[in-house]
Amino acid sequence: MCITDLLFIEKATLEKEEENNHFLRSLRSRSDIELDALAHTLNNEVSAAIDCTECGNCCRSLVINVTQEEVGLLAGHLMLSKEETKEKYIEESQQGNCFINTIPCHFFSANKCTIYEHRFSECRDFPHLHKPGFKARLSGTLMHYGRCPIIYNVIEKMKTELSFFEAAD
Ligand code: SF4
Ligand code: SF4
Repeated sequence: MCITDLLFIEKATLEKEEENNHFLRSLRSRSDIELDALAHTLNNEVSAAIDCTECGNCCRSLVINVTQEEVGLLAGHLMLSKEETKEKYIEESQQGNCFINTIPCHFFSANKCTIYEHRFSECRDFPHLHKPGFKARLSGTLMHYGRCPIIYNVIEKMKTELSFFEAAD
């Protein structure tokens, strides 16, 4: 069973801050291969049990990075020029990095993505638990632990699978 109550997860995040830091340190001696395999298995299990369309919390709360190529694709989909698209929807840094200029995202409406088929790679990839390099990204993943029920449940199941609580006693 997976926990999807965002208020519960937000509260648990405060209570488990120290525990999660300890968990992160406890993984240092584990191999990348072992942790990637476990993260992928748990991510498959948890993602299948959680309906992102019922949650949408990443769309409501994250800064969404967008590539220049994706800005062009979005412009085509919206039938606007690239310049008009940037003016309406994109913030661009001096280095040319682009991101959606509102939180929640402009394209999030009635708890749904209105450009779902054309959403950005960052939207498709979040929370990145299907990728290799779980251990190297763990601090970043834990930053979103209180925001994303998939992360919360994967981390909690991982603690159990790795007998973290027994080792901590
Ligand atoms: S583009 Fe769609 S999936 Fe991506 S943040 Fe916006 S609403 Fe969410
Ligand atoms: S990826 Fe996480 S935060 Fe985003 S909708 Fe799915 S469960 Fe919610």
